[in-house]
Amino acid sequence: MVDAAKEVKAEASYFIDMNRMEAEGHSMGAMLASRRCKSCKKILLQNASPIADSKVHLKRIAECCSQESDYISANMPLLEAVFRIFLASGNRPMSLKEIHNSLSERWTVSGFPKYLPIVMLERMLDRDDFYGISRLSDDQKES
Ligand SMILES: [Zn+2]
Repeated sequence: MVDAAKEVKAEASYFIDMNRMEAEGHSMGAMLASRRCKSCKKILLQNASPIADSKVHLKRIAECCSQESDYISANMPLLEAVFRIFLASGNRPMSLKEIHNSLSERWTVSGFPKYLPIVMLERMLDRDDFYGISRLSDDQKES
């Protein structure tokens, strides 16, 4: 019984709750724009008005910016790295395990092997109030 409960917990999914962030007065468009790669930023600077639509940034980050080798580095704050992992996948909800694997992979590639206990990651995700990282509730899963 205890094992089953534990399993359910490990399957909890997270995503960036952009609607909530916008409702709380954060500009997701600006937050995303600052995670674009150098060459994208150069192009963005030439635009007369900034792109406020976070969907546009999300798409380009997935296609372009997240492919850059310095998109996620091991010396970034952990939650910044997690935020970028979500953006790279178009903000698809991910389980704790997936996020953990993705982080470990990125860190290995960047040459800084790190060890992070999954419970610590969970605690940090649950405490986040800066990036909008939220647990997906059961009703959100169905919609
Ligand atoms: Zn780019």
